[in-house]
Amino acid sequence: MTQPRVGILAIQGDVDAHAQALARVGATAVPVLAEKHLGEIDALILPGGESTTIAKGLDRLGLYEPLRAFAESGRPVLGTCAGAILLARESENHPVRTLGLIDAVALRNAYGTQVDSFAAEPDPPAAGAGETARELAGLRCIFIRAPRLGQLGPGVEVLLRVDAEPVLVREGNIYACTFHPELGEDARLHGLLVAARPAA
Ligand code: GLN
Repeated sequence: MTQPRVGILAIQGDVDAHAQALARVGATAVPVLAEKHLGEIDALILPGGESTTIAKGLDRLGLYEPLRAFAESGRPVLGTCAGAILLARESENHPVRTLGLIDAVALRNAYGTQVDSFAAEPDPPAAGAGETARELAGLRCIFIRAPRLGQLGPGVEVLLRVDAEPVLVREGNIYACTFHPELGEDARLHGLLVAARPAA
């Protein structure tokens, strides 16, 4: 079987660490900087970094519409931290042009300066939690100037919470997490993204 190919939007941010996490789950990382790269991949990651900078790059490279078309093709998309902000319907406090691919509102830098960065374990899966939530139990979540996702629409499923706050949500093939799953050794979320790609 050929290795799955996963694109990483490579404008700015945590591109290398995502590539290493993908290698751990047997996937090939493909840097995405142009529409043509989207045709070569099975899934896409929008990394953490600085959403304002990444949004400017998306505009300059003309990637807003191609990324929306990619999402509509049904292939999985994962946005992490700044990437989650870009997936949201809007960013409430510091406006940034978003893709509107997940029915949620992002609040940027929501944890304040006191606790800019911290690690936490997700709340134990609720009784009746789905398979994905159970597979990710105990994942170490690292937050770096993280956003919060609120005003979730009815189609948005919460897969992980920390202190009752949603930190990983899914709407169809679109996944958004407010932490950095690419840091550390545990690549379970990357594994799920690869497993979620539609059968060829
Ligand atoms: N604070 C950043 C933003 O609002 C996100 C931080 C991150 O991706 N680690 O864009």
